[in-house]
Amino acid sequence: MTTTSLQADRLDRARKAASAAGIDALLVSPGADLRYLTGYDAQPLERLTCLVLPVGGDPFLVVPALEKPAAQASPAGRLGIEITGWNETDDPYALIAARLPRALTRVALDNRMWTEKSLAFRAALPGAAQVLAGDVLYALRARKSPAEAEALRRAGAAIDRVHSRMGEWLRPGRTEREVGRDIADAIIAEGHVRVDFVIVGSGPHSASPHHELSDRVIEAGDPVVVDIGGTTEEGYCSDSTRVYALGEPPEEFRRAYEVLLRAQRAQTDAVRPGLRAHELDAIGRDLISEAGYGAYFIHRTGHGIGLESHEEPYIVAGNRLPLEPGMAFSIEPGIYLPDRYGARIEDIVICTANGGERLNRTGRELVVLT
Ligand code: ZN
Ligand code: ZN
Repeated sequence: MTTTSLQADRLDRARKAASAAGIDALLVSPGADLRYLTGYDAQPLERLTCLVLPVGGDPFLVVPALEKPAAQASPAGRLGIEITGWNETDDPYALIAARLPRALTRVALDNRMWTEKSLAFRAALPGAAQVLAGDVLYALRARKSPAEAEALRRAGAAIDRVHSRMGEWLRPGRTEREVGRDIADAIIAEGHVRVDFVIVGSGPHSASPHHELSDRVIEAGDPVVVDIGGTTEEGYCSDSTRVYALGEPPEEFRRAYEVLLRAQRAQTDAVRPGLRAHELDAIGRDLISEAGYGAYFIHRTGHGIGLESHEEPYIVAGNRLPLEPGMAFSIEPGIYLPDRYGARIEDIVICTANGGERLNRTGRELVVLT
């Protein structure tokens, strides 16, 4: 399928899903939903850009007049949908309301729409209840097409190349921030257009799951959690965590790491269609709990990934969603001993008809750099 027929098919599936959910129209502002449906990677700005997808009519894209050339040059311009520019003194919300049927009962707004825009739509469409478009769009986005799976494989390989170069930068005597800067440069150099996050948690900072960077000087013997991700030109995200030790780490750290590695392996090996998200979470959590570290695994197992680095499906207790072929998500259990040290191992996995395919292929064992 060409890029544009791919998006035409997505618009069609979104329209059918919206119709089945009793929604009269989808309103989609810049972000991953818009990129998914039209290929247009628009900047979120104060001026309204919005895809309007009425279930009973043709979709159209409303953009500020000055953004129209960019919209037309994007894949959305080849989709054959109408692109309407609005001028500085026009009211784009009134313009959209005038083109929608009078008797709207329910419109769906993309989940990331800015509040000022959703309130302006409420004022322009006072008779229509507002619901979240994610309720219909996220189920479509969660099941990756073969082309999207390929794009995620390329993102995974790109971040693996960064991890495999870690010995170039990670040394005692350097600060987390200095190492982080080198990693960020490499994320771009190895095949991304954007750095999404760089976590270098050294020594006691490794015990804080979302520690980012600090001026702490990395010391010999420190365990270092490196969790990094970026977005490729195609718009797909990478995300992988590995743990490094600068020389031999404490014995107790090694013990906890072996437990974590066993749990993460068991989880990646268990992925198959039909397994529920909460069951996958429990497979790792139970192993970690049996080894006595249950209280120190303080977050969910993982999150979906695609055009956003965190999206559905979430691999978390309570989520009864069965895995399906095409779903892509992280498996990233962690053990964090407060103020001492912690570890997390993270791979992106795609559920296939036969099991799980890991998109991150660097070794998962503790990497001791000497
Ligand atoms: Zn991560
Ligand atoms: Zn992650």
